[in-house]
Amino acid sequence: MSDPKRYWQPEAETASRDQITAWQSERLVSTVKRVYQNVAPYRDRMDAAGVRPEDIKSVDDIRKLPFTTKQDLRDFYPFGLFAVPMEQIARLHASSGTTGKQIVVGYTQNDLDIWGDIVARQLTAIGLSPRDKVHISYGFGLFTGGLGIFEGARRMGATIIPVSSGNTERQITILQDFEPACIACTPSYAMYIAETMEKMGVDAKKLPLRCGVFGAEPWTEEMRRQIEQKLDIKAYDIYGLTEIMGPGVAYECECQAGMHVNEDHFIIEVLDTETGLPVKDGEKGEIVFSCITKEAFPILRYRTKDIGAVTHEKCACGRTFVRMSKPMGRTDDMLIIRGVNVFPSQIETVLLKTGHSPNYQIEVDRVNNLDTIAVRVEMNEATFSDTVSEISQRERALAEAIKSLIGVAVKVILVSPGSIERSTGKAKRVIDHRKLH
Ligand code: ADP
Ligand code: ZN
Repeated sequence: MSDPKRYWQPEAETASRDQITAWQSERLVSTVKRVYQNVAPYRDRMDAAGVRPEDIKSVDDIRKLPFTTKQDLRDFYPFGLFAVPMEQIARLHASSGTTGKQIVVGYTQNDLDIWGDIVARQLTAIGLSPRDKVHISYGFGLFTGGLGIFEGARRMGATIIPVSSGNTERQITILQDFEPACIACTPSYAMYIAETMEKMGVDAKKLPLRCGVFGAEPWTEEMRRQIEQKLDIKAYDIYGLTEIMGPGVAYECECQAGMHVNEDHFIIEVLDTETGLPVKDGEKGEIVFSCITKEAFPILRYRTKDIGAVTHEKCACGRTFVRMSKPMGRTDDMLIIRGVNVFPSQIETVLLKTGHSPNYQIEVDRVNNLDTIAVRVEMNEATFSDTVSEISQRERALAEAIKSLIGVAVKVILVSPGSIERSTGKAKRVIDHRKLH
């Protein structure tokens, strides 16, 4: 495990804790100065909180800074939190917000290079080299999955196969004929590929595929075992979110024992959800990230709403970055359906806009390893009908309207008025049968 080729940037990945703290302090101080100068909403927030840039002298002062939330990204949509002029922005990415409006982030060329480095750290850690081919089945587009892994594979010098998502049989032909060593996609899609291979009579053991990089949605250790066994590969976890960078904010090494946070670029805090105070190593809390090297979109103290824990314990791989657990749930109601963020409020918005009843329930399941989403909606005076053909036509129209907003196909079932159970407290809008945590 001391093979130097296993590190992409050994000076960072194996830096001493003192060195990491020194980098974090220096980079936080300069980022705070920069956003205070260049980004009006940060300046206003800090002024309102009575914090001056000079008050931030080291990483220990981070708690003086106000939080940033997804709501802020919506309020300053599209470019209000960018810290450089548009001519320096090399790329935009976006992710869904709660009401259909995307949240938008930007990267300078330097940001993209750093993104490439942090993803290359993982590809190298799991034994890949420029001689290998990397098959990317994450979607290419505004979603960060496809192009994020692309940046890493390119930086490392691997041969990239940018397949993007969909057409599973074609994916399998490519896995057979182009012979990639690694596949990157959501874990549920990896399972689906494995099952499709079984159906097609393709023997995964005969493929040269050695490993996979899977993330963008929650998955369990049980799923990891199944993917590893069915595809005859090693399956590694990768974590990220659009607001911070995309995939690669944290990455699993060959030890498969938690994800190393790229602490030279991001500061992680784990905060008690009630008190907002830091929790101890190993204890659960809300994960909060600050970007300390990003030029275009240096978000500070971003509340991810992911619940997780970190450990400072030494990892057998020799890396010194802290490791975070798999996310163990969320503090909000965001669902991740086939890698896409979906908020129940988005569906509610469509119901109301199209004259449907606001009495609804969303049922999420995983069938043959693909997430399914069904929306039961009560009929009201406007949408009531007793002819089957009219009902199914309305169901199809509503399903189409929901799909065009959230980007995921849903099944709509119109049910008779009053048939959805009423609650005396908070309505139970979502039933999730997937057991992912
Ligand atoms: P991405 O493009 O990386 O999926 P999004 O912004 O669309 O980014 O979604 C980010 C959210 O996806 C995270 O806040 C987290 O809830 C979830 N997520 C990302 N990676 C993982 C992972 N490896 N395991 C569990 N959840 C993950
Ligand atoms: Zn490690």
